[in-house]
Amino acid sequence: MSYKLFIPGPVAVSEKTLRAMARPMIGHRSTDFVALYQSLQPGLQALAGTADPVYLSTSSAWGVMEGSLRNVVRRKVLNCMNGAFSDKWFDVSLRCGLAATALKAEWGQPVDPAAVRRELATGAYDAITLIHNETSCGCMSDLPALMAVLREFPDVISIVDTVSSFSAMPIPKDELGIDVLITGSQKALALPPGLALLSVSPRALERAAGGAGRGYYFDFVEFQKNHENGMTPSTPTISLIYALQSKLEDIAAEGIANRHARHARLNQTVRDFIFAKGFKLFPKEGHGSVTLNCFANTLNLDLAALNKILKTKHHLVIDGGYGKLKGKTFRISNMGDETDATIAALLASLDSALAETPKLAG
Ligand SMILES: *Cc1c(COP(=O)(O)O)cnc(C)c1O
Repeated sequence: MSYKLFIPGPVAVSEKTLRAMARPMIGHRSTDFVALYQSLQPGLQALAGTADPVYLSTSSAWGVMEGSLRNVVRRKVLNCMNGAFSDKWFDVSLRCGLAATALKAEWGQPVDPAAVRRELATGAYDAITLIHNETSCGCMSDLPALMAVLREFPDVISIVDTVSSFSAMPIPKDELGIDVLITGSQKALALPPGLALLSVSPRALERAAGGAGRGYYFDFVEFQKNHENGMTPSTPTISLIYALQSKLEDIAAEGIANRHARHARLNQTVRDFIFAKGFKLFPKEGHGSVTLNCFANTLNLDLAALNKILKTKHHLVIDGGYGKLKGKTFRISNMGDETDATIAALLASLDSALAETPKLAG
């Protein structure tokens, strides 16, 4: 049985994108590949708001999230935590043998710019990790406010994960002063998993070049050296790069501003519908994500039963809560290629399914 994903990643992939992946292989050192690679740069730079290159990494986002730590942390990293992915980044820092401090907020609370300033003012840090949009709990932190704090600490390299927000709203990397901007393929970009994108500032590149221990596969210096020849360090996922090219065509045809407006509109449509059913948003007011909604299960519905009804009768799937929020929240994605029509169809299905979903005992 085939069904459509409304989970916040991987998200549904269009037929056009899948067809793009079926194109014949080319050599990754061929002039055809160089032309393909170079053709993507203007579109990617426009989405990232940067004049720096955008490197293509054959990995999931975690590859470059870990790799960035190895490239730029020389003294100590501050890992800002407010959900499953940002919590994990602290764990990854420790596994890399780095000195790290956890700056913890409750899941669903945004990263607090004042707390970041207090911690960085100790002078102990030379890098920070931030997740813009914590997908696990649908919480978006105020990136402009956080980056304003970061600009007070020019020795601190900022590593910012935009896996579930990239291309869905403006994230002007150069204007905000983001050093390392990271995203993945299977969320906001609605491509299959397996490709990560990263854009690195000159000072982050300089930091990387001056240190040891950054390895090979995710070495910023290798990415830059190969970029200058229109290539990647190792054999890339060429099929996904075709898919990315197809997606950038779609984005150019729609227009970036229209794409941003579409995400905001569809997000609000889902929110209004679920609010009318009596649920509330899980994250702090004013910090709900624009690409997904994470609702608190305030009516104590049997979310496993709801998803079973959705899957068997309506051929679609939402998310029943991430990690420790399983059963307590549910998440609905509006990332990628969703339209007014697909969201209307989703809500009609939800309307019917919610009416027959039992409440949990107790
Ligand atoms: C999904 C996600 C990740 C991890 O991505 P992988 O592709 O599984 O490596 C990291 N950060 C955020 C915000 C995510 O949503």
